[in-house]
Amino acid sequence: ETKIYHSLRSPVPLPPPSQPLSIIPYTLSLLHSTTSASLSATTFLIDATTGHRLTYTAFLEQIHSLSLSLQSLYPSLSKNDVVFIVSPPSLHIPVLYFSLLSLGATVSPANPVSSSTELTHQIELSKPVLAFATSSTSHKLPSHLPVILLDSSHFLSMLSASPEIKMERREIHQSDSAAILYSSGTTGNVKGVVLTHRNLIAMIAGLYYNKLARDEQEINLHPVSLFTLPLFHVFGFFMLIRAASMGESLVLMEKFDFVKMLDAVEKYKVTYIPVAPPLVVAMSKSDLVTKYDLSSLQILSCGGAPLGKDVSERFNARFPNVEIVQGYGLTESSGGATRMIGADETNRHGSAGRLAENTEAKVVDPVSGEGLPPGQRGELWLRGPTIMKGYARDDAATAATLDSEGWLKTGDLCYFDSDGFLFIVDRLKELIKYKAYQHVAGSPAELEHLLQSIPEIVDAAVIPYPDDEAGQIPMAYVVRRPGSSITGTQIMNFIAKQVAPYKKIRRVAFIDSIPKSPAGKILRRELINHALSAARGC
Ligand code: AMP
Repeated sequence: ETKIYHSLRSPVPLPPPSQPLSIIPYTLSLLHSTTSASLSATTFLIDATTGHRLTYTAFLEQIHSLSLSLQSLYPSLSKNDVVFIVSPPSLHIPVLYFSLLSLGATVSPANPVSSSTELTHQIELSKPVLAFATSSTSHKLPSHLPVILLDSSHFLSMLSASPEIKMERREIHQSDSAAILYSSGTTGNVKGVVLTHRNLIAMIAGLYYNKLARDEQEINLHPVSLFTLPLFHVFGFFMLIRAASMGESLVLMEKFDFVKMLDAVEKYKVTYIPVAPPLVVAMSKSDLVTKYDLSSLQILSCGGAPLGKDVSERFNARFPNVEIVQGYGLTESSGGATRMIGADETNRHGSAGRLAENTEAKVVDPVSGEGLPPGQRGELWLRGPTIMKGYARDDAATAATLDSEGWLKTGDLCYFDSDGFLFIVDRLKELIKYKAYQHVAGSPAELEHLLQSIPEIVDAAVIPYPDDEAGQIPMAYVVRRPGSSITGTQIMNFIAKQVAPYKKIRRVAFIDSIPKSPAGKILRRELINHALSAARGC
């Protein structure tokens, strides 16, 4: 029988699937049942740049006004119509997401630094009827798409106006689309991941009950989170809804900046930061952190890319009172499919935690297709209520990723230990195939963790480099600590002592910084192109 891993956590109650319900009333019902404090006295959003604040009451009033204004200005905006958003983070974005979701529109936010070609491709996938942008991003949108500028007086008036119209009630079903988020997915090309209201309800329910479980362990959290994450990425998207469901305060940064982030932690007594691994690396290595009072910090929740065991141990030695809660997930699983709860789990350095509530997994041998027991490596497959509906206008990719039994093939190589902890080894397609070692190939992530353990190295990335004899060899791009003169040979020798011969790094180049996506993923394709053009001498 195929081995299926079940979540070890108690199942979380979800509303019956046939009950008409959208993520917004669900989130607000959790908010009302959580907070004893008055919503007019509780700050929800703080803009770290301007210091501007919005209480929960003001937030809810703005949502109401914006929803009415949208219905009056765009009476044809119907349920399931897609609305595209291209904007840097601001206090307007949460208001906009919540308004659109409560109207039953599908929210589709894109990275504001995308080129117009990239945005055009995304628009072809999601077919929006309306867009929200800013004066710095609107020029990248195709001219046929109606655009509302978020930094215009027109938009501001929509936030406070209460047009004389009656709110039209639309019945929203849990199976209706709520969001289309763009992801390079498990196979490379950009795809529009369609998430339903039920997907988001299941995700928020899991996080909500997870928080209750923490509270039962008497962890005293006065929650102020700081977002270093983009709100268009699944991690920021669900963390935003999560914060609202729990009555937390949320500090938003318009643009990520390490020093401004440290400043904001001190100023707003931040307790909680969702992060991608590069930030944990920076906090464990940078001398700047000693210049700030970071004593309010209690938790960093880290996901989106692999976090090395050494890095999390070094971070813990430096910040013994801050827990790193690791989680693993994909846009296709609405975010966190595994996470950690409590000290017994957070001290499993190197692991991505245990399966989230209501989630099942298989570890599938890429060759035989068999489900593997603990300790054996294979592709991670996931099933549960947070798994996406499919990819927008891409049936072939949907069929290749979701099977008929509802399993999502993640494309990640992993194993579970016998206590149910998941360890992500690497992306299957990023493994480096050195000589005949097709199925036990070298993993860039493993080598990057070893490189990051060298004190003279600030950051590193490993790519496959074409080689006539071996097919591919591991090549490292390294950012040296300022003043360091460590050489490529010294680095290669250090790694060679710690890995099997076929995994050795065989080429090293130095670089000023490693290119990364806003969610902390190494942009390996850019480095590969860089290496190839350097080899061609251009
Ligand atoms: P995205 O859809 O942008 O969130 O990317 C999902 C991918 O990020 C996964 O398929 C993994 O390859 C990677 N990822 C996310 N979280 C982790 C983690 N905790 N450890 C290792 N890789 C991760």
